[in-house]
Amino acid sequence: MQICSQWNIKLSLALRFGDLRGRVRRQPPLFAGGTHDRLAGTGRLVSARRGIDIWRGLTAGSSGAAAIRRYRPAREDWYDTSWNPTAGCSGVSPGCDNCWAMRVAGQLARMGGATAARYTGLTKMERAGPVWTGVIRVRDDLLTWPLYRRQPRRIAVSLMSDLFHEALTTATIDLVHAVIAVAHWHTFLVLTKRSQRMRDYYSDPQTPCRIAEEIGRWASEPSQNGGSPAVSARGTAVPTILTSIRSTGRARTVSTPQHWIVGFSRVRYATPGATPSAVRPVGLEPWPLPNLWPGVSVEDQSRIGRIGDLLKMPAAMRWVCFEPLLDRVMPEAIPAGDGYFDCLAGGHYTIDGRGRVVSIEGPRWPPLDWVVAGGEIGVGARPVQPDWLRALRDQCIAARVPFFFRQWGEWAPGSGEEPTRTLVRVGKRAAGRLLDSRIWDELPEAFPPDE
Ligand code: SF4
Repeated sequence: MQICSQWNIKLSLALRFGDLRGRVRRQPPLFAGGTHDRLAGTGRLVSARRGIDIWRGLTAGSSGAAAIRRYRPAREDWYDTSWNPTAGCSGVSPGCDNCWAMRVAGQLARMGGATAARYTGLTKMERAGPVWTGVIRVRDDLLTWPLYRRQPRRIAVSLMSDLFHEALTTATIDLVHAVIAVAHWHTFLVLTKRSQRMRDYYSDPQTPCRIAEEIGRWASEPSQNGGSPAVSARGTAVPTILTSIRSTGRARTVSTPQHWIVGFSRVRYATPGATPSAVRPVGLEPWPLPNLWPGVSVEDQSRIGRIGDLLKMPAAMRWVCFEPLLDRVMPEAIPAGDGYFDCLAGGHYTIDGRGRVVSIEGPRWPPLDWVVAGGEIGVGARPVQPDWLRALRDQCIAARVPFFFRQWGEWAPGSGEEPTRTLVRVGKRAAGRLLDSRIWDELPEAFPPDE
């Protein structure tokens, strides 16, 4: 495993700095292992039920070219890149105490220049470091960023904020979702601790109409050349020019790319064929958006109810991020009415007077599609106990839910044998992300291909 991780670092560096894919192609497959069934000859490990890619082709026995083509060297993370149309936040629970975004925003505010101007006022300096002021800023200049990135990516949305923060207006959230709807080739991962507002937002039948209206507004705005918006043969509004929305004065003037048109075709109008300025959009199709994956962040058992909110709302995929994990969690015990719901294996149950588990009827909720877990980073980081992670991982394996272990954080298991092994503060890099001698990098099948 030591060798595997060294090779991995070399490969990452080589590819990140443009150090010739050809050289990488000659490297042998790097990793073997996994508890799921193997699909012969494809270089993939898949589960029988969901088709879980593990390490994306880095499996022993996978033949060279196919394995390398599927190799994802850019990051070892649950997202490829982040998109931050909003910045600023305020804490809601213990998981926010050492907020990474808060520290970064504080550092950026001290940098000077244009960057500092964007982050000044979002945090204030206290003895322990920067603290959120509760001010949220909408970055108009970044709103359309995903539309100009042609390569499909897994995009984490608003990591420098919480998209469902109470200080953000519904109109702003609509605007962000309008971009998500049009940029259909990306997968957007929206993570929140404000699960109730997220549930209300996605459950509101007016939400897709408002998002469609926002998209329709772009399409119906006169182009910079004074031209009218075009209408496709399918009655879909097509903007001749999409400006950088209400932005910085540096409007972009590019022809409408074909891949935007597909995104715009998600808007449904009451009268197909009419000009978008004359007809009100009536919805989005499909809804919920297939390229939008909402998730909740849960740090301990008392915050497990956020998962209940996630299960109650419409979504194409649902996932939970147990990071920073601060205590043992029981995903099999989501409070639901008079009983509980097992969000990994599915099924409602209650505990009878003798302590026995009794199945009961309940709302038809889907089980989770993905679990991410990890420890905390930063100055005051709290350690994550290996047994909490192991329990979570083992439950995911049993339920065939992909499990992604992101990192130990600042603390890692020290020397010695279980169960007396202690945790040692070694720093994030040294702690790494091996759990029981292997990397847990499982992804749901619906993630877009990396090539
Ligand atoms: S909700 Fe997220 S961004 Fe906001 S304070 Fe908490 S951890 Fe930080």
